[in-house]
Amino acid sequence: MKKITILGSTGSIGVNALSIIKKNPNLFKVVALVANINVAVMFKQCKLFSPDWVAMGDEKSAQKLKKKLKNKNIKTEVLFGEKDICKLAALKETDQVISAIVGIAGLLPTLSAIYAGKAILLANKESLVTCGHLFMQALNLSGAKIFPIDSEHNAIFQVLPLEIQKNLGVVPLKKYNIKHIILTASGGPFYKFSSSDLSQITPKQACFHPNWSMGKKISVDSATMMNKGLEYAEARWLFNALESEIKILIHPESIIHSMVQYYDGALLAQLSVPDIRISLSYAMSWPDRISFEAPFLNFSKICNFSLCEPNFIQFPCLKLAIDCFSQGQAAMTTLNATNEIAVEAFLNSQISFTDIYKINIEILTSACFMEPHSIEDVLEIDRKTRILAKNKVSSLVC
Ligand code: NDP
Repeated sequence: MKKITILGSTGSIGVNALSIIKKNPNLFKVVALVANINVAVMFKQCKLFSPDWVAMGDEKSAQKLKKKLKNKNIKTEVLFGEKDICKLAALKETDQVISAIVGIAGLLPTLSAIYAGKAILLANKESLVTCGHLFMQALNLSGAKIFPIDSEHNAIFQVLPLEIQKNLGVVPLKKYNIKHIILTASGGPFYKFSSSDLSQITPKQACFHPNWSMGKKISVDSATMMNKGLEYAEARWLFNALESEIKILIHPESIIHSMVQYYDGALLAQLSVPDIRISLSYAMSWPDRISFEAPFLNFSKICNFSLCEPNFIQFPCLKLAIDCFSQGQAAMTTLNATNEIAVEAFLNSQISFTDIYKINIEILTSACFMEPHSIEDVLEIDRKTRILAKNKVSSLVC
């Protein structure tokens, strides 16, 4: 039986992971759950899965949860704050840690799990995007293993040779005759919109993804295609891929989740209905496969099946992220922090959809940070960038 800690259990990834565990009670035991403020969902999860520990980022939410659990005589111990979340990420009782806190808040807990040598099931792409080299270095030093959950990276992982699966981020792709990694992208809800249509987009429209049901931040990132840019960075680190070894193709049907092209001309792809539980279950059960009443593809019902190059004019955030990656880690960390602030401001209806790109490009052009050599350096770039980005948002609101 695998013992699991879920960081971000009340979010879209966390809830899906728990639904797989519920269907496979003989294979998994929940040891600890982590969230921020969602007491109602966390309470239900404690009742259903009886974890030994829970941590809430927010202290008041932890106190509320503690009271509710005590009233129902549920013995789960409740902690709070980042330090305790990091402790739960490194528990000696845990085998697997699902890293699914959204944004930079997931960085230190994910690193804590890495330092403790756990199997990391990575959804929180921001932690890899903001400190890729340091992240991969920590992984190699600690002996921790990484399993991607993002559907594209998970698809690539599924069609890579076992030797690469066991040593992600280390082996040169060419050594295994891999020519290209092809990341597919749905294009999001506005794929068919012209650039001029985009300024009036509302948060509700941006959060409604045609194929996937996800948290608000990643949904907006999918709509700007910043998400694909962050995934590009994630793929460069995870698969040790050179710039020339990665391609991006738009595939609006979200059936091919990504592909690997080998030097002999063979193209291996993972296909399924768009359901994150398929990626999650493979990461959770690797190298085996488990069932959870998965939905199956029915080719007779698929009318269209298309692939085309992305349009960088329509989706400038995608190009921006790719360019940032070649500029270096400081640029990528700056982009991530600015984007988080801009997306939050858009979700609060403070700025327009197209302002997200404007804020990102302006901060990237004006900010100038030294390359980070430690996690503290990364956090300092993140902190300073957030101040700049918040000032920019305020200037647009006035
Ligand atoms: P959600 O917004 O649905 O959930 C976020 C989770 O993080 C919640 O449990 C939330 O708790 C928790 N959280 C937020 N801030 C903190 C904090 N400071 N301390 C502790 N917990 C915190 O996001 P998703 O599940 O959609 O995404 C999570 C991550 O996975 C993101 O990095 C995303 O890019 C990535 N991902 C998601 C996919 C998806 O299908 N959803 C696919 C691929 C990657 P609370 O509810 O209490 O606020």
